[in-house]
Amino acid sequence: MLATNSNNTFKAFTEGSQNDMPSDKYIATYVWIDAEQGLRSKSRVLERRVINPSDAPVWNFDGSSTEQATGRNSDCWIKPRAVFKDPFRLGHNVLVLCDVFNFDWTPAVGNSRVSCLEAMDKPEVKEAKPWFGIEQEYSILEQAGHPIGWPRGGYLGPQGPYYCGVGSGKVFGRAVVETHLHHCLYAGVKICGTNAEVMPSQWEYQVGPCEGIEIGDHLWMSRYILKMVAEDFNCSITFDPKPVSGDWNGAGCHTNYSTLAMRQPNGIEEMFKAIEKFRKRPNVHLKAYDASSGEDNKRRLVGAYETASYKEFSSGVANRGSSIRIPRHCEAEKCGYLEDRRPAANCDPYAVSEIIVRTTILNEEGDCEPI
Ligand code: ADP
Ligand code: MN
Ligand code: MN
Ligand code: MN
Repeated sequence: MLATNSNNTFKAFTEGSQNDMPSDKYIATYVWIDAEQGLRSKSRVLERRVINPSDAPVWNFDGSSTEQATGRNSDCWIKPRAVFKDPFRLGHNVLVLCDVFNFDWTPAVGNSRVSCLEAMDKPEVKEAKPWFGIEQEYSILEQAGHPIGWPRGGYLGPQGPYYCGVGSGKVFGRAVVETHLHHCLYAGVKICGTNAEVMPSQWEYQVGPCEGIEIGDHLWMSRYILKMVAEDFNCSITFDPKPVSGDWNGAGCHTNYSTLAMRQPNGIEEMFKAIEKFRKRPNVHLKAYDASSGEDNKRRLVGAYETASYKEFSSGVANRGSSIRIPRHCEAEKCGYLEDRRPAANCDPYAVSEIIVRTTILNEEGDCEPI
């Protein structure tokens, strides 16, 4: 079944029922990240409206079912950190993105937000006003795990007509993309664009610019919304960095980055300085740039298909074959932002934004073993 029609039963009910909902009940969906960087959620009916994270009570879940705790001591805490409007239930209902803690309030396995925030809260970092914009690439699969629109057990014609394509046979799954865009906008996620990608059934959306910790919060919530929308279309989403091997582009999370100094006149000098810091510790970055400490991304960063090899750091203006690219318009204006093209589609944006500020603003040095 191609994902062209939404399975609207659930939506029709939630939309149609708005006027009949009791006025003193509010549904909050708590969303959190598990030990494998998967998303989990559960809902709770509250008697008060949630505007800020502190309006929603701390809650818990069975961590032994998510490999975040043992069965004997299974409760993990979930503490609300960011609130979005619920684009599925509408009304005064909300989605709350949470931190996960162990019973003793230490960060649980998979919680990288705490250390990211620690870095973002340092006075030098706050003063530098780091902005991030992430280009999230992903592929849409049929339930069977096969990219939608592709012949079963076979391939489509070679890449070329699909990127920013228009029309049947060129793009697959636009209804998912469109629904996701509208749902993100409604929720308050800072999504800023979408496009069809080079590999058919692969798409991109961009989130940003966001300052500091906000990029992680907004990107994770945009992924939650995407997976929820896909459920409704009977298809699934993969963030695998190389979902189809062979002559097909992989999927990344290009991370666009600037500090206040880079955005000011002649900020390009600051960009060059940052690039020299990146150059000295490529492996620490590659480790933070995918869900498997660099292993998944090796399949993607091969030095072809618009990527640079993971074995060699490179930079260049308008060069999509380099690790870090300065966009042409930023070179022309002598300020703006740089693009780190290395993060994989399945990266953790908290880990990515954290290592970038640690290297470029906090001047942390030293590299690890090659990935
Ligand atoms: P590309 O040309 O690489 O495809 P896109 O247009 O897809 O680039 O994405 C550009 C990204 O850069 C967006 O996420 C946007 O929010 C982000 N961005 C724009 N200006 C800045 C800035 N000054 N600092 C950081 N990110 C920025
Ligand atoms: Mn892009
Ligand atoms: Mn892209
Ligand atoms: Mn890009």
